[in-house]
Parts: sequence; C-alpha cells; structure tokens
Amino acid sequence: MTIEDAAHSLYDFPAQKWIPYAFSAGAYAGKIKKEDKYKFFSGATECGNNIARKLLCKYPSYTVKDFIISEGARIINDDIKTESLGIFATYTEPDEIRIAKGVADAADEAIEKAGLSYITGGIKIRDVLYAHELYHHLERKDKSLYTVQKHFLLFRIGTWEYRSQIRCLSEIGAMAFAQKLTGLACSPYILDMFLLYVIRPEQAIQFYNRVMKICGEDEPCT
Ligand SMILES: [Zn+2]
Repeated sequence: MTIEDAAHSLYDFPAQKWIPYAFSAGAYAGKIKKEDKYKFFSGATECGNNIARKLLCKYPSYTVKDFIISEGARIINDDIKTESLGIFATYTEPDEIRIAKGVADAADEAIEKAGLSYITGGIKIRDVLYAHELYHHLERKDKSLYTVQKHFLLFRIGTWEYRSQIRCLSEIGAMAFAQKLTGLACSPYILDMFLLYVIRPEQAIQFYNRVMKICGEDEPCT
C-alpha cells in the first residue's frame, strides 16, 4: 500500500462512511446506537456547515485568518510540537489557536509531490487546521450550538433526565465547518494521514489500516 493508493481509497469515501471513525473515540462512543450515531453525525455536520455558510455569506472575501480576527480569536505564532501525540492544532480558552505549521506545510509539499493536489483542491492544510480550531472558539462563545448541547442520556429518574455532552460531536462539527469554510475538496479526516506521513510514513499507513478496519466493512447507515 502506497500513500497514493491510500489517499485514492479514502478520497472515494462518501461522508457518511466516516461515521464509525468519527465515533471511534470518546467517553460514550461504544454506548451510542448506530442509528443515533447517524442522527448525531448529521446534526453536527449541519451545525458546522451552517455556521461556515453564514460567515461566508457575511464576509465573502475574508480569509480564514480574517475570520479568526473578526470572531475575536488569536493565532499564536509558536509552532506546536505535539505532533508525536498525533495533535497538530490546539485551541486554548479563551482565544488562542496554535498549529504545527512546519508539519502542515511539509504535508502540503508531500501532497503536491505525490500528484495528489486534487484531493485537497489546492487548499492549504494550515488553513483547515486554523478553521477547525476557530470552530471550537465559536463553540465556546455560543453554548446553544448543537455540538455543545448535552445529547447523551446518562440516566432518568422519574421526570428528571441527566444528559452529557458527546465530545466527538464537537470534532464532527469542526471538521464540517473547516471543510465548508476553506472549500477543501476532501473530508478533513484524510488530512491526518498526510500529517502523520510527514512525521513517519509507516504511521500514515497504520492510520489508513485503522480507518479501513473501522469504516471499510461497515456500510453507512441511511
Ligand atoms: Zn477539534
């Protein structure tokens, strides 16, 4: 398996095929029914898309950095060094966004060199990472967003219900938002493979195998 073959294969995934992967981590991941995962994934994706659409309508000429400034967040210009943990961007309340710039730029170069630019549509990975973290900033500012509401029913006593937030919905919303805001041609989930490839190529193939194991055989719920 080459990175090119892996990229082609994941590029062909319809959005819903990422659902099992999107829910593969997190506190309640194993406790959510398949049909509920589909419902939550759709809700979170719609939430991210809608917010991006509103921003783009309001300021059609803005870059991602312009949106970050207009929404009151800040890019901190240190290059984060947490890539060994598989973390390429962070948001720190109340307003700080950091990314692994060096790794992001190297991944762009690797994509171009491998003739895979159609996968990103020429969109810079830096911008996708920035947009993803901007979404978390918007979530902090607006607790009414679908992705920060408490959807998971912990337990019920009489007429009282105790619910919790499902953390991966934030990630699903952030991915949808980043894709819509930047115009990225592929699912942002694929970008992790390229970012890992820069650090250690075998990790990218491990990522691919993991995704295929989780999503490959599982038909999307419709
Ligand atoms: Zn995130």
